[in-house]
Amino acid sequence: MAKCNHLCIPMIFLFFSLSAFSFSHTEKKPLTVAESSNFTATSRYDDVINFIRELQQKSHLIRVETICVSPEGREVPLLIIGDPVPSSPLDLNYDDRAVIYFQANIHAGEVEGKEAAQMLARDIILSEHPPYLDKLVVLIAPLFNADGNEKISPNNRRNQVGPENGVGIRYNGQNLDLNRDGMKLESPEVQGLVQNVMTRWDPALLLDSHTHNGSYHEEVATYVWSLNPNGDSSLISYMSDKFMPGVNKIAKEKYNTLLIPHGDFMDVRNPEKGWKPLGPQPRYISNYIGLRNRLGILNENYPYADFKTRVLKCYNLFSSILDYCHANKDEILKLISKADRRTVQRGLNPSKDDIFATEFDVRPIKQKITIHGYEMEIIDTDRGWPRSKKTDRKKTYTMPFYSDYFPKKSVSFPYGYLILARVPKVKEKLLQHGITVEKLVKPAKLTVEAFTVKEIKGSQRAYQGHYMSSIKGEYNVEEKEFPAGTLFVTTAQPLANVAAYLLEPESDDGFVVWNFFDRYLVPQWSRRPQIYPVYRLMKPSALAKETVRMY
Ligand SMILES: [Zn+2]
Repeated sequence: MAKCNHLCIPMIFLFFSLSAFSFSHTEKKPLTVAESSNFTATSRYDDVINFIRELQQKSHLIRVETICVSPEGREVPLLIIGDPVPSSPLDLNYDDRAVIYFQANIHAGEVEGKEAAQMLARDIILSEHPPYLDKLVVLIAPLFNADGNEKISPNNRRNQVGPENGVGIRYNGQNLDLNRDGMKLESPEVQGLVQNVMTRWDPALLLDSHTHNGSYHEEVATYVWSLNPNGDSSLISYMSDKFMPGVNKIAKEKYNTLLIPHGDFMDVRNPEKGWKPLGPQPRYISNYIGLRNRLGILNENYPYADFKTRVLKCYNLFSSILDYCHANKDEILKLISKADRRTVQRGLNPSKDDIFATEFDVRPIKQKITIHGYEMEIIDTDRGWPRSKKTDRKKTYTMPFYSDYFPKKSVSFPYGYLILARVPKVKEKLLQHGITVEKLVKPAKLTVEAFTVKEIKGSQRAYQGHYMSSIKGEYNVEEKEFPAGTLFVTTAQPLANVAAYLLEPESDDGFVVWNFFDRYLVPQWSRRPQIYPVYRLMKPSALAKETVRMY
C-alpha cells in the first residue's frame, strides 16, 4: 500500500502537469481564418471543419454530430460541448444541465456569428478552467448554410464594411432562404435543425445570428426574442422583462459592450416615433422556437462597423448570454417545463378563453429604449419611400419599442384536429416537426367544427418558390362520420402551438399559406363552397386510435 502511494504521487503530479501544460495559455491556440487574416477574410467550409478537428485533437470536451447533408452534399456540423460531453441526449436524463444552442451563418453573407462561434467554442474548451460546463451543455452550429458559404465573393453584400475578401450568399443550394423555412421545412438544413437539434437535444434556448441592413447607430450587436403571441406568454415576458435586461447589464459591465434591441426606425422623418423589429411569423427560426415553448433570440449585427469589431461584439453578446444562462439555469428550466405543462393541460380540456391568433397587431412594450444614433439626412426616392443618410452628428434617440404583438383576430383552441385530406406531405411535415400524430383505427361519428371557405387569395408573385394562398371563412358545428385511417392531432402535447399554426386554415404561416391544401380549396366542377379538409374536435372524446410513425 505504502509502495503504491509512493509510486502514485509522481504519476498524479505528471498527469496534472501534462494537463495543465496542454491547456495553458502558453500553448498556441488554433486561430480562426478571421483572426489569422487580421479580419480581412472569413472561413470557408474546409477551414471550419479543420478548425473543429484541431479542437477535437486538443480537448475531450467536444463531440461533433451532423445536422444534415446540404443540397450540394456538405455535412453541416453540430458541436456538442460539455463536461462530460454527453454521448447522446439520453445522458442528460441523469443530470440537470441545460442545453443552449447557438447557430450562425444561416445567411452566409452574414458571417460574424460564424467567426465568433468558432472562437467561443475554442475559448470554452481550451480554457484552463472551462467556464459554464458545470451547468450547461453548449451546442454550436457555426456554419448552418454551408452551401451559401462556399460562394464567397467580394461582390456579395457590398454595403457592409468587410471582410474585404468577401462573404457567401444568402441562399442555400436549393435557392431557398433558410430563415423562411421554419414551418414548411423544405430544406434539409431546417429539417435537420428541427429533427437533429430541436427534437433530439431539446435546447432550452436557441440563438440565430445574422447581420442586418438598416438604420444607423453606434451599438454593434442587437437582439430580439421570439415574438409570436401564439407562443407561451410567460416566455415572451421573461425574455423582454428579465432575460435580455440581464444580458444587457452583463454585456455592459463585464464586456464593455452596449446592446440594443434589433429593429429599424419606423419613420426616418420622425425617428422618435418608434423602433420595430422583424415580424412575428414562425417561418423565422427565432420565432418558431418560441412556439415550441423554448427561448429564442434573433441576433442581428450592425453592418457598418468594421468586421473585427462586429465579430468581437457578437462574441461578447454570446458570452453574456451564456453567463446569464449559467447564473439562471434552474429558473430557465423551470419556466420552460411549466410552459410545456400548461400547454398540455390546455389541450386536455380547452376553455373558451384559450385562443389561437390568426392576425396580429403590435404595440410598444412598457420600457422605452435608447439608441445612440446619428442625425439623418432624408433623400426622397422614386420608390415611394424616403431613404436616410447618416451624418457625422451623433444623436441619442429614446423611443417606444414596437415588439408586443397581440391577437387582432383569433379562434378558440380545439381539443384536436381531424385530417381527412390524403396529402402524404401533411403527415410527413407534422412528423418532421416532432408533433404526435395518431390515426383512427375504428370509424367515429363526432360533433366537430367544419370550416367553410368563403374567400381564397393567391399571391401575385412567387415567394420562396410559392404562390402563397390565404383563405377566409367560418366554422360551423356539424356531425360527421370519420373513417378509420383519419389522422388525429391532439393539442394535449407540448408542440400543440406548432400543430395549430400548421393546421388552422386562417393561420398566416401554415399548410394553407404554403400550398399544401390548394387542390382541396378551389372548387373544380361544383360551385358549392369548399370545406377545409381539417376538422376541429372541441371537447375531449374517447377515440380508438394509434400513433403514426415516420417510417
Ligand atoms: Zn440574415
